[in-house]
Amino acid sequence: MKRYLKELIIGVGVTTIAFVAVNFQQLTIPFVLLFAILLTFAFVADRNRGAAATVSHEVAKSHRVEFDQIGGQEMAKRELTEALDFLRHRDKIKRLGINPLKGIILTGPPGTGKTLLAKAAATYTDSVFVAASGSEFVEMYVGVGASRVRQMFQRARAQAKKEAKDSAIIFIDEIDVIGGKRGGSQSHQEYDQTLNQLLTEMDGMQTTSSPLVLVIAATNRLDMLDPALIRPGRFDRQIKVDLPDKNGRLHILQIQTKTRPLASSVDLDQVASETYGFSGAQLESLCNEAAILAMRENKEQIEQMHLRDAVDKVLLGERTGKRPRQEELERVAVHELGHAIMSESVRKRSVSHITIAPRGNALGFVRQVPEADGYLYTYDQLVDQIKIALGGTVAEELIYGNRSTGAQGDIQQATNMARTIVACGLSSLGIVDIDNLQRNVLDEEIRRIFAELYEATRELLSAYQEGLRTLSVTLVEEENMSGDAFRMWMAENELQPALV
Ligand code: ADP
Ligand code: MG
Ligand code: ZN
Repeated sequence: MKRYLKELIIGVGVTTIAFVAVNFQQLTIPFVLLFAILLTFAFVADRNRGAAATVSHEVAKSHRVEFDQIGGQEMAKRELTEALDFLRHRDKIKRLGINPLKGIILTGPPGTGKTLLAKAAATYTDSVFVAASGSEFVEMYVGVGASRVRQMFQRARAQAKKEAKDSAIIFIDEIDVIGGKRGGSQSHQEYDQTLNQLLTEMDGMQTTSSPLVLVIAATNRLDMLDPALIRPGRFDRQIKVDLPDKNGRLHILQIQTKTRPLASSVDLDQVASETYGFSGAQLESLCNEAAILAMRENKEQIEQMHLRDAVDKVLLGERTGKRPRQEELERVAVHELGHAIMSESVRKRSVSHITIAPRGNALGFVRQVPEADGYLYTYDQLVDQIKIALGGTVAEELIYGNRSTGAQGDIQQATNMARTIVACGLSSLGIVDIDNLQRNVLDEEIRRIFAELYEATRELLSAYQEGLRTLSVTLVEEENMSGDAFRMWMAENELQPALV
């Protein structure tokens, strides 16, 4: 709006000048001068107003965050409080001649709590908190970014004095936007000036004077940062803020549900084990979605079912408006049941829930209870995962005698795992360098792995052929099936061959 206003003023100005010039030749020069002066004033005022506006909303007084409102991240919290104790015990530091810390970088994926940690740091040290994001310093006018940096430091000190605090924390989110490598090809002179100004401010920071300023920056691209930033005396402390593990997730879920009414039957431990790879922000959004689902059903409390559906929603997106045809639904049901049977037969109690309600890109979906969080896979685990991935398309083959494009994602996944088998020296080729392997040798090996596992999957699933036909009808009717209901059916079907 402001931008248009300026354009408007200029437009009106220019038109008026033109009009006056044509009609009153004698008056042209004084008028042009007058307008030129007015326009310059308007322009400068506007520029200053812009700069002042960004700085004034940086000071966040409202949100007090305490460390115990942050779930998981035990390592990050410990390292951060250790570093912050430098601020809290300044006399001791001075006596020992230790240089106080000027900058801390928090690195990690989005939504893991970096902003929360910075806010909690301010609470812990009783500092004023001033926040900005790297992108706020990017402006087309040369020098504006640098002057905003300068103003931010001034502002932090002034605010600390005003509130009679002896320290200030400046939080710069997305530091990589201004702290990218200088002089690089994608770099730009304006960014360089901004970064230089930040370095100058940090170098000039008096570590003995009051208020003491500490800069906390956040990024998920540590590799992108200019090495000058992480030199001693600048951001020389790096703290990793990773995705939470299962205990971390449980802790975050407990925090996020504290203010939300939970039914007593809710098992958060179960939710935590089903949300492998979720960030804190995703867990927050999961709790929120669960509450929305409960409200839609006019429930007073959030139930396990709502949490379960919310996991799907966060993972795959909102249910789409896709309306598959009836025969497509049946095929999807057969396909998903194929995955589910394989999953349950390679690992008991691994199916959490089966659905054929289209979400995001998926027409259907089997959610597995992940194994305990792990970083290593054995050969058997990889083979099992490939069989589960192939289960969908094999089931289609068994029931319809043909397969469909629904298996595209599964096959991509299976191929990745087969490559992993070869790359990790677990295939019949033995230990090889996959990058130096002849293309046809690799292809041949992957084909061999698939042929063998396809056969094994087919053999296992064919025992369930009749059951697949009937259960898929039920699944089409009900759209969803819980892991327990599915296991009851599995148990019945396993007994049949023995009874005959
Ligand atoms: P980042 O700065 O790492 O992108 P934020 O600190 O902005 O992440 O987190 C965004 C939101 O996600 C927070 O407001 C909070 O609701 C939730 N959240 C993220 N991590 C945690 C955590 N460890 N504990 C509790 N809530 C979290
Ligand atoms: Mg953030
Ligand atoms: Zn599939």
